[in-house]
Amino acid sequence: TKELPADPILENYRRQVNACFSYVSPKKTSKPVLVHASHEMVEELGMEEKDLCSEVFLDIFSGNAIYPDTQPYAMCYGGHQFGNWAGQLGDGRAINLFETTHNNKHWALQLKGAGETPYSRTADGLAVLRSSIREYLCSEAMFHLGVPTTRALSICETGDKVLRDILYTGNPEYEKGAVVCRVAPSFLRFGNFEILMAREDKETLQTLADYTIKHFFPHIQSGSKEGYLLFLKEVTERTLEMIIHWQRVGFVHGVMNTDNMSILGLTIDYGPYGWLEGYDEGWTPNTTDRQHKRYRYGNQINIGLWNLYRLANALYPLIDETAPVEAVLKGYQDAYQQQYLSMMKSKIGLFEKDARDIALINTLEENLQLTETDMTIFFRNLADIKKDKAVTDDFLSVVIEAFYAPQELDENVRETWKHWFVSYVARLRQERLSDLERQQKMNAVNPKYVLRNYMAQLAIEAADKGDYSVIEELYQLLKAPYSEQEEKVKWFAKRPEWARNKPGCSMLSCSS
Ligand code: AMP
Ligand code: MG
Ligand code: MG
Repeated sequence: TKELPADPILENYRRQVNACFSYVSPKKTSKPVLVHASHEMVEELGMEEKDLCSEVFLDIFSGNAIYPDTQPYAMCYGGHQFGNWAGQLGDGRAINLFETTHNNKHWALQLKGAGETPYSRTADGLAVLRSSIREYLCSEAMFHLGVPTTRALSICETGDKVLRDILYTGNPEYEKGAVVCRVAPSFLRFGNFEILMAREDKETLQTLADYTIKHFFPHIQSGSKEGYLLFLKEVTERTLEMIIHWQRVGFVHGVMNTDNMSILGLTIDYGPYGWLEGYDEGWTPNTTDRQHKRYRYGNQINIGLWNLYRLANALYPLIDETAPVEAVLKGYQDAYQQQYLSMMKSKIGLFEKDARDIALINTLEENLQLTETDMTIFFRNLADIKKDKAVTDDFLSVVIEAFYAPQELDENVRETWKHWFVSYVARLRQERLSDLERQQKMNAVNPKYVLRNYMAQLAIEAADKGDYSVIEELYQLLKAPYSEQEEKVKWFAKRPEWARNKPGCSMLSCSS
């Protein structure tokens, strides 16, 4: 960041001018305790297991001490929230500690919930244990699912209390505070560029674009129209790739505002996210978005494009030509059709070409929404279909476990499904792979274990009572989401009824 202009004043005022970030120190915590650490991330960063037990680790990653010769800072960014320009936002509760390189990989380490910054506005800069566990577990789970994401090194309780509105009562209540240390090559967002365009600060915009290209897109030659255009194109491609992965695993981000869109195409800011249990394209876990459902599962790819339009607009002063920018954005639409199709084909084990596959997949998506059908279980069990089975066979029995009310599947629904299975099995016979080969391929893209909403809630409830064992159990489980792990099969189950409408399980708010 030394290459970027810093805000020279540390005071808490609203408008930073000609600056990309502000120096700021994490808040001291009263009684920090390490809740969990990611051993994979410890290794990635070149630390050792024994470092986890040291006071230094706890002090630095809870925010109580600053690593020698480093200067923590909060970044300045703006953003479009729920479709509207929201002006300056910035890291209101995230503080970048330092950057480090290990095994030729460059990482930035950032604390979330470590106190106020010049961008906190009226909020406290803190995070509660509940939302910190959700971010910690989910970002690591996403990594192991093969989804581009920021990661997490550690989660600490601070020993301090944080005041929050409780979702089910609407009343403020004290909750346990926590700090997560997140890790990514960079935490730059679309909004970092948007704010500079909004201020008509072309000079800093160019400095930031050059910095980003130099460090994170080094194969692109910066400094020219063509370079900035290639940069936009690559962000477009990475963003699409990320969202296609979300669709594949049934992840709903919940707040796809442009301040939550990583310039590296990483899933960032795990807030009111959720996992599809019943497959439902209209579902969002975010109670703040209940009315318009802007960020619903079935709209995430469209929103990705909408957000890229905002980024293109922000970079426009550096490109200054409409046609090639439009061509890049058009590229997203073309690529999306093709990539979505091939992703869905892989989920159902089809690899040969057939023009009718689009229709087959459309019908599947409709059928999955006829009655409440668990997405994860359906696709996982679908791999058990044998292509030589007679068409009269009861295919539905293979996936019956996925239906939330199997006893209520009426004749119409059964008939509709049977139709689909007959076409599907006929289509499978065009494939060259054996049943076993197809099953292996399908199981590599259809996870058996995801962080179901109620699972995170169980980890939270236990941790709230001081028991971190469920966090460890889920962390271990989700390290191998595609493996059978028969001894842990209790987590391969539909959402229990108690979790259906429970706050924290199916409903979440932005406030955390
Ligand atoms: P989000 O919707 O979580 O991405 O947050 C939107 C903006 O609000 C970002 O600029 C956050 O940094 C800021 N923000 C969210 N929660 C807090 C908090 N507790 N304290 C300070 N800023 C916050
Ligand atoms: Mg955010
Ligand atoms: Mg957030």
